[in-house]
Amino acid sequence: MTLVPHKKAKALKPSSRRPAKELCSECGLCDTYYIHYVKEACAFINQQIPTLEEQAHGRSRDLENADDVYFGVHQEMMAARKTEPIAGAQWTGIVSTIAIEMLTRGLVEGVVCVQNTKDDRFQPHPIIATTPEEILAARVNKPTLSPNLSVLEQIEQSGMKRLLVIGVGCQIQALRAVEKELGLEKLYVLGTPCTDNVTRAGLQKFLDTTSRSPETVVYYEFMQDFQVHFKHEDGSTELVPFFGLKTNQLKDVFAPSCLSCFDYVNSLADLVVGYMGAPFGWQWIVVRNDRGQEMLDLVQDQIQTQPVMSKGDRHQAVQQSIPAYDKGVTLPMWAAKLMGVVIEKIGPKGLEYARFSIDSHFTRNYLYVKRNHPEKLEQHVPDYAKKIVSQYKLPE
Ligand code: FAD
Ligand code: SF4
Repeated sequence: MTLVPHKKAKALKPSSRRPAKELCSECGLCDTYYIHYVKEACAFINQQIPTLEEQAHGRSRDLENADDVYFGVHQEMMAARKTEPIAGAQWTGIVSTIAIEMLTRGLVEGVVCVQNTKDDRFQPHPIIATTPEEILAARVNKPTLSPNLSVLEQIEQSGMKRLLVIGVGCQIQALRAVEKELGLEKLYVLGTPCTDNVTRAGLQKFLDTTSRSPETVVYYEFMQDFQVHFKHEDGSTELVPFFGLKTNQLKDVFAPSCLSCFDYVNSLADLVVGYMGAPFGWQWIVVRNDRGQEMLDLVQDQIQTQPVMSKGDRHQAVQQSIPAYDKGVTLPMWAAKLMGVVIEKIGPKGLEYARFSIDSHFTRNYLYVKRNHPEKLEQHVPDYAKKIVSQYKLPE
């Protein structure tokens, strides 16, 4: 029998090995024998988004098309929400609903998703779900780095041939890179956008610094109204304006992987479900290819949709926020609230809000890579991101 390289590589497995070092996002690949492929597959060692876009979608981004540059290869975008939201989901539960439909209709035999551990609602516990109940138990974000790909070996062992993987960009990039080695007949990828993720310890620091009651937070989201919404155990909502965040204390909270990430929009998933390109209260759907359309079609009768919209001009707000973030400026709360109200009224909306968020993060991350890993800058920053960053004047 001829062994495929990763099987020969079993002896290489020590799970403490993380070739991306401090840039590792703990995607889980290195917990498996697929670590053999890490030098090609890791999103932080070998940025290869255009090549993998070709592989997954049949073409890479068209750099002359502004929507492609920002949102990646796509056939369609829309805003959507479930007519009957799933209680306790991050938004309205479109992700969990699609996964459940795929499983119960027999399109897949298992779903890679992330539950939490018994003792800690924010500590991720990746699984391959084989029942709707297991998928439902994975609803809501675990806003921490999650080793989703650590279950890859179990796929091969289980003999599953049709699989759905739910994940964020860095996990999906590594997954696409080893896709052909998994022995699957069909792989569906349902992605979410992702930014500013943290380790479990970093999350605690964020909650302690930002919320009035860190221990009762069950959910939070940086929303389109320029506020962080914390939901507490008693059902109450706490709002903290973005501009009031203690930037000086929080600057080092985000994981170095996320400070050097340029795949906010999960370019390699078949279907992406987020919120940032949609009006407040709605989810944002990006169909990247036919497989993504097939997945969305399964829930058409359970969702309301509306076309995406775009309003405002982000450029000035982004340009002003670059030096403010760099210097760790924190506004007094009254000023932060006032600024939030003004920006909410006249600021960017819909797709323009998404562009605002992408611009702010890409400029910050470009500076981070330039200052901390200058040798990686050229190869690691994709051309579409260089194009986005070039619109702004950056400090040295
Ligand atoms: P649900 O039905 O509640 O399902 C959530 C799914 O997320 C579950 O299937 C679970 O397996 C998966 N999941 C949970 N935690 C993780 C994790 N740490 N890693 C990988 N998968 C996980 N959208 C934006 O538009 N802008 C953002 O900046 C943004 N940041 C995000 C950051 C993180 C860490 C995550 C996980 C998601 C982020 N999203 C972002 C997506 C958004 O918050 C919602 O997850 C998405 O809209 C789906 O909502 P839902 O109600 O349909 O999901
Ligand atoms: Fe390995 Fe994933 Fe970390 Fe890269 S990000 S070093 S592939 S665990």
